[in-house]
Amino acid sequence: MVPNQEEFISKSTMGVYSAPDNRNVLCPIYFNFTYKQQELDIPSFKIEENEPNIKEKEKQKDTGKRRPMTQITGVRKLKHTNSFTGQVPKYGVETPHKEELGKLLNDIDKWGVDMFKIAEYSNKRPLTCVTYKIFQDRNLCNIFNIPSTTLITYLMHLEDHYHADVPYHNCIHAADVTQSTHVLLSAQALENVFTDLEILAAIFASAIHDVDHPGVTNQFLINTSSELALMYNDESVLENHHLAVAFKLLQEENCDIFVNLSKKQRQTLRKMCIDMVLATDMSKHMTLLADLKTMVETKKVAGSGVLLLDNYQDRIQVLQNMVHCADLSNPTKPLGIYQKWLERLMMEFFRQGDMEREKGLDLSPMCDKLTATVEKSQVGFIDYILHPLWETWADLVYPDAQEILDQVEENRDFYQSMIPISPSTSFSNTKPAEDRTPESKFQFDIEEEKSNSGDHKDSEHFVKHSENATNSLTGQNSGNH
Ligand SMILES: [Zn+2]
Repeated sequence: MVPNQEEFISKSTMGVYSAPDNRNVLCPIYFNFTYKQQELDIPSFKIEENEPNIKEKEKQKDTGKRRPMTQITGVRKLKHTNSFTGQVPKYGVETPHKEELGKLLNDIDKWGVDMFKIAEYSNKRPLTCVTYKIFQDRNLCNIFNIPSTTLITYLMHLEDHYHADVPYHNCIHAADVTQSTHVLLSAQALENVFTDLEILAAIFASAIHDVDHPGVTNQFLINTSSELALMYNDESVLENHHLAVAFKLLQEENCDIFVNLSKKQRQTLRKMCIDMVLATDMSKHMTLLADLKTMVETKKVAGSGVLLLDNYQDRIQVLQNMVHCADLSNPTKPLGIYQKWLERLMMEFFRQGDMEREKGLDLSPMCDKLTATVEKSQVGFIDYILHPLWETWADLVYPDAQEILDQVEENRDFYQSMIPISPSTSFSNTKPAEDRTPESKFQFDIEEEKSNSGDHKDSEHFVKHSENATNSLTGQNSGNH
């Protein structure tokens, strides 16, 4: 049986965390964090060195002399080979499979493109070629006077800062979210609704939204007292880090793709990107969805049928939800593709679970390879998180997302049919007593996450984690507090 909504959410949101082996998991960021979302200061963070071993140096001397919080770690120097000065290849990447890649990129406007194949044919640079193609198709380089070589240099550098050894949160996922956002932006109901700057911000935010992801959740980082968690006081730890790294990379040589924007445009774009990427923190999910529902109920539509969004809050809210939807879009894709994502997600979760086991920590839900029940968690995830979100989005842009909803339901039924019939672990046995309450609890957990426990970073996690959820639901491990 499938757990009820409160149970599902409380378990899944609360439980997922573990940390990868301490390799580069924690690329702490020491960064001058003086701005707030409302006050837009121009980016002026000073970054000192950015060597891979910076963290160790930090440990040795960071106490009094150096100003704290002035350095972003995890940022590496530009590789010479990434500094593009010559002619930009047609698809932005050097590849012996130009033709195959070209065919795949022809479908860039369609939902369900096979990003794994694009990764294969682009010489493992799916993010660079997909983003470059989208910039071209949307004429963003001309509109914002972005030099092609700068764009490619930045994108390659950005892509290099996604970890190839992280199974899920890598550059393929980033490319997938970017392409999905690109398609969602093209909904008829949104035609001419967003400005070019907003479109640029949404595409850019999607491309950067998980950069330097270590493959573990916010909660894991918090539970292990990682430097990142310390840096950000447990609040949206990963999301803050992704933003800092991405904006820092703009300062590398020939990487500032926004060099020709006006000061005001840069400030606005930066604010929008921050708002969008921070909203990918899964702990913000319930609030985001609630606000979206309110918007749908009071939806204002112009004569032509397009949405009327007449203030910043409404506009950014739609963009935040759009990127969030794109981030949680695996179960909306053709089943074969969805399954591949799920496999990767589980692999990442199980690695975290293994690390938790090694460290003697409680295992996060869905992270215990010994007890996880992927199918069930997927059904729970879809029923309580994903479908409500997409259903609301589909209402907002009706009828543009109807096919997507159909695909979700089909995939959900597939996983439902795959749930083993064994009477094994009953859900109720596995959940912790405190988590067992009704809806209020459910809400509470989400709230709590947002406010401090940070685990949610995983919208994606969630998604993929439906299985995670499943596990947790299935009782694999219960509430770690
Ligand atoms: Zn993501």
